[in-house]
Amino acid sequence: MSILKGKPDDDIKIGVYVCHCGHNIASTVDVEEVARRAKELGEVSVARDYVYMCSSKGQNLIRQDIMQLGINRVVVAACSPRLYEQTFQNVLRESGLNPYLLQVANIREQCAWLHEPGPLATEKANRLVKGAIKRVIHHSPIEEQSVPVFPATLVIGGGIAGIQAALEIANSQQIVYLVEREPSIGGHMAQFDKTFPTLDCSACILTPKMNEVARNPYIRLMTYSEVVEVSGYVGNFNVKVRRKARYIDEDKCVGCGICVEKCPWSTESEFDADLGVRKAVYTPFPQAIPNIPVIDKERCVYFLKGKCRACEKFCEAKAINFQQEDLFIELHVGAIIVATGYDVFDPTPISQYGYGRLPNVFTSLEFERLCSPSGPTGGQLKLADGREPKSLAVIHCVGSRDQNYNAYCSRVCCMHSLKYSHLFKEKTGGEVYQIYIDMRCTGKGYEEFYERVQGEHVRFIRGKLATITADSPDSETGEKLSLSCEDTLLGGLVNIPVDMAVLCVALEPRHDAEQVAQILRLGRSRDGFFMERHPKLDPVATMSEGIFIVGCCQGPKDIPDTVAQASAAAARALAMIVRGKMETGAITAAIDETLCSACKVCNALCPYGAIFFDEVSNVSRVNRILCKGCNVCGAACPSGAISTRNFSESQILAEIEGVLV
Ligand SMILES: Cc1cc2nc3c(=O)[nH]c(=O)nc-3n(C[C@H](O)[C@H](O)[C@H](O)COP(=O)(O)OP(=O)(O)OC[C@H]3O[C@@H](n4cnc5c(N)ncnc54)[C@H](O)[C@@H]3O)c2cc1C
Repeated sequence: MSILKGKPDDDIKIGVYVCHCGHNIASTVDVEEVARRAKELGEVSVARDYVYMCSSKGQNLIRQDIMQLGINRVVVAACSPRLYEQTFQNVLRESGLNPYLLQVANIREQCAWLHEPGPLATEKANRLVKGAIKRVIHHSPIEEQSVPVFPATLVIGGGIAGIQAALEIANSQQIVYLVEREPSIGGHMAQFDKTFPTLDCSACILTPKMNEVARNPYIRLMTYSEVVEVSGYVGNFNVKVRRKARYIDEDKCVGCGICVEKCPWSTESEFDADLGVRKAVYTPFPQAIPNIPVIDKERCVYFLKGKCRACEKFCEAKAINFQQEDLFIELHVGAIIVATGYDVFDPTPISQYGYGRLPNVFTSLEFERLCSPSGPTGGQLKLADGREPKSLAVIHCVGSRDQNYNAYCSRVCCMHSLKYSHLFKEKTGGEVYQIYIDMRCTGKGYEEFYERVQGEHVRFIRGKLATITADSPDSETGEKLSLSCEDTLLGGLVNIPVDMAVLCVALEPRHDAEQVAQILRLGRSRDGFFMERHPKLDPVATMSEGIFIVGCCQGPKDIPDTVAQASAAAARALAMIVRGKMETGAITAAIDETLCSACKVCNALCPYGAIFFDEVSNVSRVNRILCKGCNVCGAACPSGAISTRNFSESQILAEIEGVLV
């Protein structure tokens, strides 16, 4: 370590701290030379280099200089500010200095990791540091702000992600509103027979959690409901929820099911992936929570033709109410957890696979329902003509890892494909073919499950399926399917005759993800799922402070990862509630009212809804709590009235001059 001291200019005293980052920076850049050159600049009082500036010893060097040498501006030359800026800001804060009197020069990602070792890399680091020194002279203290947090949380979506998050928060005796748009909570997990890799019965592990939700006094469950409007900001969101009319009085209904039994009208059951039927008045599945039916207005003959009312005649509790209307309920919450899950890919457009045309080609979700004891066949696998299938082909990556549909991997399909092999063998003892591109079994116990299924004499064919066609009818066995596929291990085309085929379809963003994103001001990544704040370091938070995303609405994942993510988001919401306040970003837009021409261009452009027009003063104003400092407004303002704190023209020009001159 070398230490260089010097006399500061005027009353600005700059300390420069150059980090070796082990060998990360020091093997490419001459860090001692960078510190020495910084010291030669008149404005710098002290310049040091140290092996790990982020370590407690490195931080102490800065702390001591602030306390003992009166350093009042700090430049840290190290890694990206995204990683350690907050750490160094805390050092300033703890030493009694405003944290915004810091500037970070990124000499790792923007220099050492990009260039060959040598004088040119060192020269670039020198210039980045000089730019930071010239810039920090123009920094001035920025007032930090905090907002109170209202102690209630909204969870949107009652699949396993939403259930887990709601229970975690409610078990800490904090109020949770759980809003689910279907008549029951449960999500996709309620549709499965068994879950990989342990083959637990899905209902057996999910139903107790659903019952806990119903019993927990801290959970306000709102099913058959949707969030239609959200305003406010972290700590204080105002939410409008539409409770759709069930046409059944929830307070009177005893869940006896007589209305369902007596209803004479049937339609396809969405819960059974349209393979089974349900009544016009229905509960989606036997373990539904709440166990209160809904009348489907689109299918009910009374609503369509004005006659029937069979349900009303038989309901002893007098719970049927055809006059019921949608209700709009206002909620006040401090945090929001979004857990709206996924849709499955519709394989109809891949016409060569015959889905929708060939009756014995199913999707994975349909196969789940065929296997389930509560499904349309009572758990018996049956072909369209009622026979039990003797052979099955399971096709991986349908709509996933395919540039024509979704480029991403859906992460759970390899595993549920293996699950289907096991279930098919268990139920029929027949032949199973797995047609796969790569096997991806990366979770705990997953590789072991793969080995177990291999031991069950399943045939694995590595290749991409070309077509599924109907073979000529066979007098003994009826119509068979013929699969044509390239076997890349054998190096040739193979034809596989089977009775049944299952297409393991991609997990996709919900069809209404854009609408939900707009209501909540969430970003979406290229694949359409909601975007997290940081893919590695902050995968549950979003750019909208106080709003978290969990489960498959963030990206495809299995149940264990979903549950872990839901618990993580619950911990974040609880941390806000326990502290009772939240610090919000200080780097926000500022409007010079004397220059504002009242054109309102900024109002419409702000992606966070942070700018509003003050009709009385005839100027635009910024809500600093909502503002994220993106400077879209500043770039668009035709009067040059808007600047962003810590990104003033003088700061930016000084930095450019420092780097170039
Ligand atoms: C065929 C198949 C088989 C699988 N098998 C397994 C397995 O064996 N093991 C395993 O670990 N994983 C399995 N998975 C993955 C598993 O389904 C997911 O990990 C899990 O369901 C994710 O839960 P979630 O709560 O995020 O989403 P979902 O289960 O989709 O739940 C989301 C909930 O939000 C509700 N919702 C949606 N939009 C709104 C809105 N705007 N307002 C209010 N509510 C809304 C929905 O109605 C739903 O109830 C499988 C996936 C598929 C496709």
